Amino acid sequence: MLTTAIIAAGGRGRRLGAAVPKQLLTIGGRPMLQMTVDAFAGHARVTDVVVVLPPDVAANPPDYLLRAGRRVRLVAGGERRQDSVANGLAAVDEETEIVLVHDAARPFVDAVLIDRAIDAAVESGAAICAVQASDTVKVADGRTTAGAATWIGETLSRELVFLAQTPQAFRRSVLADAVRLGQAGVAGTDEAFLAEQAGHRVRLVEGSARNIKITSAEDLALAQSWSAAGGLPGGGLPRLPIPDSDASCTVASSGGCDFRIGVGYDFHRLAEGRRLVLGGVDIPFDRGLLGHSDADALCHAITDAVLGACGAGDIGRHFPDDDERWRGASSIELLRRAVCIVRERGFAVHNVDAVVVAERPKLAPHIPAMAERLAGAMQVQVEDVSVKGKTSEGLGEIGRGEAVACHAVALLKKIC
Ligand code: MG
Repeated sequence: MLTTAIIAAGGRGRRLGAAVPKQLLTIGGRPMLQMTVDAFAGHARVTDVVVVLPPDVAANPPDYLLRAGRRVRLVAGGERRQDSVANGLAAVDEETEIVLVHDAARPFVDAVLIDRAIDAAVESGAAICAVQASDTVKVADGRTTAGAATWIGETLSRELVFLAQTPQAFRRSVLADAVRLGQAGVAGTDEAFLAEQAGHRVRLVEGSARNIKITSAEDLALAQSWSAAGGLPGGGLPRLPIPDSDASCTVASSGGCDFRIGVGYDFHRLAEGRRLVLGGVDIPFDRGLLGHSDADALCHAITDAVLGACGAGDIGRHFPDDDERWRGASSIELLRRAVCIVRERGFAVHNVDAVVVAERPKLAPHIPAMAERLAGAMQVQVEDVSVKGKTSEGLGEIGRGEAVACHAVALLKKIC
């Protein structure tokens, strides 16, 4: 199923008062827009990403968007948010079934939220992430004039009040109806409202308190403080500080955060008539690895390492090879799901180091693509993934070209 994410980044963010659009401001050294785009471009179920930018930025985009690959397309935005989303939808591939809309100013979105929105839209046609109100909600009486006192008109039941976030996910036809209504003159602050007005029921799924929208200087300061504290709830994690003294004999400070380390190993037989998939990359070869899934031994070893690091068992426990759901499954998708399990336990991947032992084919030309796929699945930077190829010097099953083995070590960091 094709799923496209439209990142609404066409606004200027005037409330922040910065010289550049707010989505270009950095958090922990990374532009907010890059964090947001990476969260979707690195998601295994998101096929394409359409980024809607202010026209001048679209004409001269930042390098990280140009380097983002063919999955990311850039489009100029319109006057209002709904005009920008309409421009984005016009650029969505016709085969796309589900379209996600997300604010660039919510850079802490994570894979779990994206999954929830997609799953609910597949089932119900339209769904948004939202958080239930925790404060008592008062509605002003509407009779207040400028400068005068404000009075309560009504108190709502907070159990029924949800604060809308993005991602918002729609079957393509539902979003097309919403966009048409917007173009006919109906104004809405989100696509869900326009979909409702177009007669569609929109489902609420659980959002996250971490999925904040950065609109004020206080929001930006909060996001910066999360970064400085060492845990970016929805994105990558900053690197360990480099010790001032002799690095060879100094242990890097954890900054008060917990680390967990895990090790993984896998071994698969090579067989004719199978694809060779390693690290989520199809490698041209006359044989492939044998197994219930796509038999991507590198993903399996890394999955065991990240699950093991937080005491969450192993790949066989979560994705058993006697379960028909996982027959022919994409192992990069299993790794992405494993990282969701890890995040639910309060951890994020910090970095991974792995070794593939194979006599043939030559892996070096494919390692950058593997690192990129693995980094996307684990929501880390590509620099935080290391893959090394080794041979077995012609010895044993691996040396005879009958099998491939993979070893991996993963370091997790507690989300502070
Ligand atoms: Mg395996």
